[in-house]
Amino acid sequence: MDWRPQASINLTALQHNLTQVRQHAPGQRIIAVIKADAYGHGLVPVAQSLQGQVDMFAVARLHEAITLREAGIAADILLLEGVHDQEELTLAIRHTLQPVVHQASQVALLQCMRPDRTIYCWLKINTGMHRLGIAPSEVNTTLQQIRCCQHIRLCGLMTHLANADDPADTSVRQQMDQMIMLGKQHPLPQTIANSAGILHWPASHADWVRPGLMLYGAAPHPTRPGSAYDLQPVMTLTAPLLGIRQVQAGERVGYNGLWEAHKTHQIGIVGIGYGDGYPRNITADAYVIVNQQPARIVGRISMDMLTIDLTDIPAQRGDQVVLWGTELPINQVATWAQTVPYTLFTGVTARVLRHYQ
Ligand SMILES: *Cc1c(COP(=O)(O)O)cnc(C)c1O
Repeated sequence: MDWRPQASINLTALQHNLTQVRQHAPGQRIIAVIKADAYGHGLVPVAQSLQGQVDMFAVARLHEAITLREAGIAADILLLEGVHDQEELTLAIRHTLQPVVHQASQVALLQCMRPDRTIYCWLKINTGMHRLGIAPSEVNTTLQQIRCCQHIRLCGLMTHLANADDPADTSVRQQMDQMIMLGKQHPLPQTIANSAGILHWPASHADWVRPGLMLYGAAPHPTRPGSAYDLQPVMTLTAPLLGIRQVQAGERVGYNGLWEAHKTHQIGIVGIGYGDGYPRNITADAYVIVNQQPARIVGRISMDMLTIDLTDIPAQRGDQVVLWGTELPINQVATWAQTVPYTLFTGVTARVLRHYQ
């Protein structure tokens, strides 16, 4: 038996979630977002599973894209942050990547380049996120500059929604309206929607959608689990029960003695901690699943271990404990940790064994 924590990755669930993307956006092309090691699920295995099923991949950084190419992934790859200097542009061209162009310095880089092949790129517009993107008022001039470069092919216009995870938000409409206006002047393909746009804002679907989180089975909505959208969790995080000990009334468990027994308790020691990516700060009602039953976490989360109350739960050393996944939605854990599923997924560290099924 392997006593390490394990992230079991269910590629069938990944495929199921992709069909959910298709149901929501049936007429759109799909850019699968697999940045940050496919949200902790494993960049290359996830890309291999989705290759041929999606129209394109997106990563944030050049080196993520190069890892994909070195693993033999031949699909189109969108570089969400674009390239930052000449050296990166040269590599992007060598690996036939499609950079996003989001600021004037990147247009200048492209203008200087005389590559032996066409560069395919996307122009990003700032419609309200105020992070990346040129102003809508600069689109005309920038398009003229790009069109002067024979070696550049513009694939489309892109923007990113700031508040799409809130179905009642009003700024999403304003962001979409700006893209509609631009579309009237410049009939180019558009991509606007992330997972939240796909699930909550049909008007944002445009020509290409960019699902990330929902592919992995979690919902971007702050309180709803993925199952509310018929999504299936791809990652199930488990760790073994390393031992069980009895504590008596008055004894305290773990660092700083945060939790004190008021009667005799059975305490389970679980082999996972914040050094594996389980959040250290969680509310007192947080639990894990042991033999299909919720077992409350007691005391502080340590680096390699956490402790649970097994007083009324049949369990023995070696049993697998579920931290999140099929029996416990990651949105729930994110709520206990006052964070979002994105940070939990991407926070799973390298020493957690991934295995694929
Ligand atoms: C990460 C990212 C996405 C995917 O977002 P999800 O909320 O995970 O679906 C889409 N577009 C851009 C620009 C991104 O950075």
